[in-house]
Amino acid sequence: MLSVITRFALLIFLAFLAGYIALAQLGPISAIGAGICVLSIPLIYSYINLARLRKFTVADSVESMPLPSGYWEEIFFRLQRLVRNLKQQMRSIEKQHSRFIEAFQASPNGIVMLDDQDHIEWCNAIAEQFFGLNFKRDVMQRINFLIRRPEFVQYLYRRQFDESLLLERMGPAANLSLMLQAFPFGDMRHLLLIQDVTDLQKADAMRRDFVANVSHEMRTPITVLMGFLETMQSLDLDKAQQNQYFEMMMSQAQRMKSLVEDLLTLANLEANTLPAPMQAISIPTLMALLKNDAEVLSQGHHAFNFEVSSPSNLMGEEREILSAFGNLVSNAIRYSPDIASISTNWRVNERGEGEFSVTDTGPGIASEHLSRLTERFYRVDRSRSRDTGGTGLGLAIVKHIANRHQAQLIIESTPGKGSTFTLRFPKERVVA
Ligand code: ADP
Repeated sequence: MLSVITRFALLIFLAFLAGYIALAQLGPISAIGAGICVLSIPLIYSYINLARLRKFTVADSVESMPLPSGYWEEIFFRLQRLVRNLKQQMRSIEKQHSRFIEAFQASPNGIVMLDDQDHIEWCNAIAEQFFGLNFKRDVMQRINFLIRRPEFVQYLYRRQFDESLLLERMGPAANLSLMLQAFPFGDMRHLLLIQDVTDLQKADAMRRDFVANVSHEMRTPITVLMGFLETMQSLDLDKAQQNQYFEMMMSQAQRMKSLVEDLLTLANLEANTLPAPMQAISIPTLMALLKNDAEVLSQGHHAFNFEVSSPSNLMGEEREILSAFGNLVSNAIRYSPDIASISTNWRVNERGEGEFSVTDTGPGIASEHLSRLTERFYRVDRSRSRDTGGTGLGLAIVKHIANRHQAQLIIESTPGKGSTFTLRFPKERVVA
């Protein structure tokens, strides 16, 4: 490649040469014209290439521009390489950017980016859902104009972002509890992270309720027991009276024992999340055991009918199944008046599922209670439950045992007529 000075010198030489030849042949005017003609050749060439460059830059297709020959080839080539590199860099930055956006969108937490004036720069779909925002509509709006909860406005105002803020009754159905915290980043900007803590809050409330309920259940027999002890201490009782007091104290102690036993059973069931093992349990044998226990509990006050329509084996944990079936039978006895009849049946239905049902002709249960019966300590008839030694945990235990055996607990009841409690086991757990 020739250098610029050499090219220029060559051009001047050619212009003089052309001028000299023209001067000898045609005269001085023609000599000047010939010199100018030679000098304007590279000018025209450059002009043509500049025009092509303009055309391709306007069409944003510099990369596909055909390369000219000569001095402009190198310029076009370098320009094309530069544009290609820049475009590739832009593409990879865009890809990275959209990967970040996708990651933020995939987050189960709400994310909002705020500028130094608390304007929304960006937010993900979860945050839109939590706060009823619409990113396209609300971009660059001040967040405290859109989320107007006083505690949130104050949180932004105080700027103590090392603390988090709990917002209750949020979301489209006003049923969410959200934990929110702002994290400073970059140039006075803030990232708001919002976590849905509804389930955690519910679990916490349930735990508090549970502790309150247990304390309440324990306090009554303890108070009664202490009352008896004080009486026995302060009064001079004869042997018969003493025995009567001991009996009453025994019944309170028994009540506490049942409560603790049921609590332990529940705790064990809750701790064990695995499905129940597949031990073969003979239903006819189990029914005979249940019948025996029922007759002892009823003391001849009820008419029983224990039936096994489809003799079979149930695959499960025998101790748990006996406890669940026994609970349903004992409830039927305890909540039904003396004249009631109680039928217990095991059958395999058309779909091959095993159904254990207990039907009584007792007082029945109003429909508004049915969905809550398996909650811990939920009682329809509180005094009858206590009088008959109930802890309020029986059906909660039955429900847990059913879950461990993939069974369903179905409760049907008509007030004044009676109730049927059915445990339906999947066909995989029934062996003919
Ligand atoms: P409890 O120890 O109080 O019997 P459960 O969890 O076994 O607790 O039962 C919850 C409530 O359901 C009982 O307090 C009672 O009001 C109601 N219940 C259960 N079984 C029957 C039934 N067969 N007939 C009428 N009410 C029942």
